[in-house]
Amino acid sequence: MSATTTRVQENIGDPVSDKPQVSRPQLEEIFKDIQADLRYDHELHGCLNCGICTATCPAAHYYDFSPREIVQLLWTENLEGIYDAMQEKIWACAQCYTCAARCPFGNSPGGLIMLMRETAIKHEMESAKSVLRPFSRVMLKLVSTGNQLAPDMINAEHFADWGPNISKVDAPLKLLRKAIPMPTLNTTATAWEVNLRTSVELYTIWEETGVLKQLEGIDRNLFDVIADFMDEKREDWKDFLADQEDEKDD
Ligand code: SF4
Ligand code: SF4
Repeated sequence: MSATTTRVQENIGDPVSDKPQVSRPQLEEIFKDIQADLRYDHELHGCLNCGICTATCPAAHYYDFSPREIVQLLWTENLEGIYDAMQEKIWACAQCYTCAARCPFGNSPGGLIMLMRETAIKHEMESAKSVLRPFSRVMLKLVSTGNQLAPDMINAEHFADWGPNISKVDAPLKLLRKAIPMPTLNTTATAWEVNLRTSVELYTIWEETGVLKQLEGIDRNLFDVIADFMDEKREDWKDFLADQEDEKDD
């Protein structure tokens, strides 16, 4: 080996895989993005490699997944391992934060995994796209209306993948929702009524915080549908304000 050779690999990848190799600068950029988040130093203080987080992690019982391994990858700055974990493993976490409550070092493995997920979305990784694809209905509802699942979405048509178990959640929704004292919850088409002004303010938040840009990167079709929805609601809001002005003038 000459004095100028280096053991640092320029390109990382599986030599027998068809997948394109990931360049070292790209791996560094991904890690820098994770590290640059304000929460990073708050979530990672060191790691004893003790495995308490994994021992108490519910996801580790069911999947080939270990929060200890993820924290070690970050702590030792193993760029290739971090990238690999972002292709599948990080999506196994249930974000329950049991690990954060138990870690003797005060780390939050679940919090670090959240940063890795956000970075996977920012880098438009396939893993993020495929994990989020089945939730496009929920994202549409959440981003366009500020609501999560509407009660009437929990039916056999919307959740065919739930199989025959879906019939167990069949209920007289209209009647049940009418019984809830808050009028904003007397609806089945939405979890609760969000007024027009709040919806329009939410759109500004989605835009200013970069949520919409991230959505555009991982699901262009969904982004287009939501953008149309937002335009429509903003027009409704303008009309509402114009009507108010007209009423004042009369
Ligand atoms: S993150 Fe905490 S609990 Fe998990 S292995 Fe490291 S020191 Fe132990
Ligand atoms: S937050 Fe994730 S890593 Fe931590 S215990 Fe829960 S499932 Fe496991």
